[in-house]
Amino acid sequence: MTKRTRNILIGIVIFLVIVNAVSYIIGRRGGISQNSAGRITTSATSVRINGEPIPSYWFREMVYIAAQDLQLFNFTVEENEDERTCTIENPEKNYTVNDDYMSRLSHIEENTIGSYQDYTTLLDGYEVQGYRAGRYIIIPLNALDNIGRAAKSDSANVIEITLGDNTATAAPEPSSTPSDVSVTPPTVAPVAESTTQQGGRIIVLDPGHGASSGSMSDEEKSAAGWVYNENRGQWGEWRHWKSGTTWQDCGGSGCSGRVPSGGSCWYSIGSGDRDTEPDINLQNCLAAKKYLEEMGYTVRLTRSSNDENPSITERIKNCYPNNDTSAEPDAMAYICVHSNAGGGSGSAYIQLGGSYDQAGIPSNYAEDGNALGKSINDRIVSLTSLGEYSGGTIEGLEALILFCKSPVICGYMEIGFYDNSSDLAILRSESDAIGRAIAEGINDYFGN
Ligand SMILES: [Zn+2]
Ligand SMILES: [Zn+2]
Repeated sequence: MTKRTRNILIGIVIFLVIVNAVSYIIGRRGGISQNSAGRITTSATSVRINGEPIPSYWFREMVYIAAQDLQLFNFTVEENEDERTCTIENPEKNYTVNDDYMSRLSHIEENTIGSYQDYTTLLDGYEVQGYRAGRYIIIPLNALDNIGRAAKSDSANVIEITLGDNTATAAPEPSSTPSDVSVTPPTVAPVAESTTQQGGRIIVLDPGHGASSGSMSDEEKSAAGWVYNENRGQWGEWRHWKSGTTWQDCGGSGCSGRVPSGGSCWYSIGSGDRDTEPDINLQNCLAAKKYLEEMGYTVRLTRSSNDENPSITERIKNCYPNNDTSAEPDAMAYICVHSNAGGGSGSAYIQLGGSYDQAGIPSNYAEDGNALGKSINDRIVSLTSLGEYSGGTIEGLEALILFCKSPVICGYMEIGFYDNSSDLAILRSESDAIGRAIAEGINDYFGN
């Protein structure tokens, strides 16, 4: 090798090292700015929708499908840049197979990055947790629970979904469904805190969501207050009590019938599956509990780990002494702690509105709940790095299950956006300050 050749070779090697280092740095930056949420792999579970095999993907411990594949069943998938929404809908509920799409089903390569998207993904009006995967939007298979009936096939690892097979809400429930009759929970052993501090000012703190539904056995779901709906072939809970009562599930009729846009009296367990949010909510509540107790309050947590996922119906039993729903509720208020997703930043509370008809609530139930939510939100905005979500309130969700079933006034917080990287960084690093703000806000409302 001549000296010249060697110098050229050394030059090439140095050049390649520099190019690699630069592209590595750019690649890392790109990864962060793209908001990577993980890598997508092929799912071991086969999915059939109305008999048609649909590609399925494994992502963040759940089975996903591409929203675009629903075009096979006449859904439209539209992204609106101004409104920052991705709308997947089929208002005609015409689920016949559209042959045009048969040859155009999704193909997402193994190890493709799934990224958080700044758009709210709405499936027939329901907000679902969508991710971007190249030119596709992927959504959890569970999201279809609201528009279809899912059944696990006898052969393992096949999930069959029948679209449109869950519209019979008002049909009489099978008499064998025990959940439709008045629910009197078994007397459980009192937890230490409620006996030792009985008579203190009691606050129920509810870290939203929890274990994902796919990780729970039927026994666990039942123990956590979820009920099985024979008509729909799925687990979930009823949104209302029978009008003027408590602890009598509406079962689809005899209730206010108030539902959020696109919703129904029934709420499927899978609609509450979240991945990042449960732990954020729990950390915020644990911190709030510490500060509230320092202020002399007694705090009941609706869950204390991320392995639990009680239904809302189960969670509100914490408003009663020793969970005894035949007694008068002894909690002053129920604070529901969530974090938002889908295009935005900052902290807000969800607005109550209209009339609620469960027995025993004060006539100013909605106004008081809103004042409580505002009081907490004002403190979050002043004591943490989170800004205020546009206007501080979220409207259009006045018929949330909690609002329809709670026996005491409630504040419903959406603290920051966990799918927005700058909010997420604050949520991860400031849970103590957020907890303190929640406690101060509650204390402000109750006037010390
Ligand atoms: Zn109802
Ligand atoms: Zn939430």
